[in-house]
Amino acid sequence: MDAASKHENHLPDLAITSLGAPSADSPLTEARFVNDEERVLVHSRLSDIEPLIKNSSAPSFEIAGPRRKIFFDPKDLTCGIVTCGGLCPGLNDVIRSVTLSLLWQYKVKRVIGFRYGYNGISSNAYEDPIELTPDTVSAIQHIGGTILGSSRGPQSPADMVDQLIANNVRILYIIGGDGTFAGGHDIANEITKRQLPISVIGIPKTIDNDIYCSEKTFGFGTAVEHARSAIHSAHTEARGAWNGVGLVKLMGRDSGFIAASATLANSDVNFCLVPEVPFELDGRDGFLARLVDRINRKRHAVVVAAEGAGRYLEKTGRKDASGNEIYPDIGFFLKERIRRHFSEQNIPVTVKYIDPSYMIRSVPANAADSQFCIQLGQNAVHAGMAGKTDMFVAYWNNHFTHVPLAAAVGRRKKLDPASELWQGVIATTD
Ligand code: ATP
Ligand code: MG
Repeated sequence: MDAASKHENHLPDLAITSLGAPSADSPLTEARFVNDEERVLVHSRLSDIEPLIKNSSAPSFEIAGPRRKIFFDPKDLTCGIVTCGGLCPGLNDVIRSVTLSLLWQYKVKRVIGFRYGYNGISSNAYEDPIELTPDTVSAIQHIGGTILGSSRGPQSPADMVDQLIANNVRILYIIGGDGTFAGGHDIANEITKRQLPISVIGIPKTIDNDIYCSEKTFGFGTAVEHARSAIHSAHTEARGAWNGVGLVKLMGRDSGFIAASATLANSDVNFCLVPEVPFELDGRDGFLARLVDRINRKRHAVVVAAEGAGRYLEKTGRKDASGNEIYPDIGFFLKERIRRHFSEQNIPVTVKYIDPSYMIRSVPANAADSQFCIQLGQNAVHAGMAGKTDMFVAYWNNHFTHVPLAAAVGRRKKLDPASELWQGVIATTD
């Protein structure tokens, strides 16, 4: 949900599903319990809320947090964790947080980790699940990646539910992006069809910060921090050559938040290309003509391009294992087009292209992201123990919230060109 869609009338259904009424007392002794009636408003501006309140229809999210009554009996409970999709800083922090919260706060019997994404929950898993204990998750927050491994590619929901039953799993924690949530929603539907008491709880993992209904996601801040270093190198390289161009490709398949935020975090950027703002390469006002103009004025330039900005240039027609469209590599494409354009005009140019994407994805989370991961994990555990299902933990208006998985499937948070973020980029570039 972006600033614009906060104001639309077509919000997804925000009601949370429950496996049943929780009847046991929570073992937590010092918690500030919350209840389902405490809600977080979707809107935060008075001018947006006033007309809605008059109609008693101000949309809101269920608040996250420990419930006084829980649904599952911890002493008989086995929980599973799975990580899917691309790597993102903080995955191990979340695995650790969920594991330790379950074992220490709720004293559940057993936590297992499924290996290599949804493949690990299928009957043809590459590897068996592993036990997650305080020992196995010790110090994993200091290393990047995921100790469980990840994968893309579909698995049968019926087969995965069979495997959850075989492993006695009653709460499945899925850590992934919109694809993972689509898969988790299918698993939850299969569970409902069979009337099983198994909960599916999501923790949003998207380095691009593009999950709908969550203002922020873990790993994003770390990514911006490392993207800033790459831009700094590109700027140094650009200044080191007469007519030097430093070109940096950043993550952002569909949403340009990393590129825009890194541009503001390092105001040496002159051109920022994102998927949400169409641009022309050629023509009098096109990107290449503006780059020539900038080079003639300053003798160096820094260009940041989000990977998805390549959608305006050409179609590859190819898809990855999970069905995501593969866009042309905007970095190589731009490097070649810049060289050709300058050569046609007999202007010497030196282009240095930096692609830090895989280096950024695999670093450990920074302090702020680690803190966020711990809290996401704790709130996911509270939600699962209370018997909530088919939902994920999000963050909205300074609160952790519950959002149905279905609300994030097929929708994406996009950078709004009218937002303060993009207006800030326009003001600092060129
Ligand atoms: P990333 O941000 O890295 O893309 P993601 O969770 O979207 O994260 P995907 O590779 O798209 O990563 O999907 C992860 C898993 O979810 C894969 O196993 C994939 O098959 C499954 N999945 C993706 N899309 C769907 C869908 N529409 N329905 C059911 N399962 C899906
Ligand atoms: Mg995806």
